[in-house]
Amino acid sequence: MRAFQYHRPASLAEAAALAARPEAKLLAGGQSLVQAMKLRLASPSDVVDLGALKDLAGIKTDGRTLTIGAMTRHAEVAESAEVKKAIPALAQLAGMIGDRQVRAMGTLGGSIANNDPAADYPAAVLALDAVIHTNKGRHDVGTFFKGLYETALAPGEIITAVEFRIPQRAAYMKFKNPASRFAIVGVFVADFGGGNVRVAVTGAGPCVFRQTEMEKALAAKFDPASVASIKVSPAGLNSDLHASAEYRAHLVTVMAKRAVEAALK
Ligand SMILES: Cc1cc2nc3c(=O)[nH]c(=O)nc-3n(C[C@H](O)[C@H](O)[C@H](O)COP(=O)(O)OP(=O)(O)OC[C@H]3O[C@@H](n4cnc5c(N)ncnc54)[C@H](O)[C@@H]3O)c2cc1C
Repeated sequence: MRAFQYHRPASLAEAAALAARPEAKLLAGGQSLVQAMKLRLASPSDVVDLGALKDLAGIKTDGRTLTIGAMTRHAEVAESAEVKKAIPALAQLAGMIGDRQVRAMGTLGGSIANNDPAADYPAAVLALDAVIHTNKGRHDVGTFFKGLYETALAPGEIITAVEFRIPQRAAYMKFKNPASRFAIVGVFVADFGGGNVRVAVTGAGPCVFRQTEMEKALAAKFDPASVASIKVSPAGLNSDLHASAEYRAHLVTVMAKRAVEAALK
């Protein structure tokens, strides 16, 4: 790890000013950034800790949407009565992330800003048609996740909260890496009613994506059988020591079918 200046700003405006420094990095729970710094994959001049900004954490709902602050820890989402009531699948997803220590420290904002190809939250954010609020405005999810570890955030832009649309029913299923618990493949299915179904896949490709063929089939009939016969092409999917592209393609169908089954329970 290289030397850096540590800051703990007391306001969002102060954090934004520090984050605007050319080599600055925001620090949430440190669950990705600190490892990257130890490995010298990241060598920021300034580390801007968001931990004192209490307004960035918290959960609220208006019955139509559920808004979660960027600094809300995975464990808080997993245990929240409000999340369990509004979008139980989201609480379950948060409870499946990493281990107890990762869930105690890791945050929603850090997870989606990092946009790891195997992270769980991007699938929920995309399937639940979320709006990403920042100190500079808002991003629609359709244009937020750009590619491998890449988002539409401008340098120094700070995620403040994520606003999820509440579906009629939803479920998330993942085939996890048994060591890290990151998704080898994870599928989030959300049914908003009126034939509006969204299916988002993480872990399989370089970046989270929607599976539109499954969305159409489920809009016609929300039933596991509607997706069970859909064969996903392995072209462009990840292939590594954990799973081949062909295996990941197969898992997309299996996880989607299981997610629909779970959403119907
Ligand atoms: C052992 C281990 C297992 C894990 N398993 C899983 C898993 O199963 N599933 C899963 O999804 N994840 C997993 N993770 C990742 C974990 O979920 C973290 O939440 C994720 O790495 C982000 O960490 P963080 O919130 O601490 O952010 P940090 O590490 O502090 O920051 C990550 C990146 O986001 C930026 N950032 C942070 N907050 C903001 C903000 N508000 N606005 C803009 N940019 C911001 C930082 O500058 C940095 O670039 C695992 C991590 C570890 C160490």
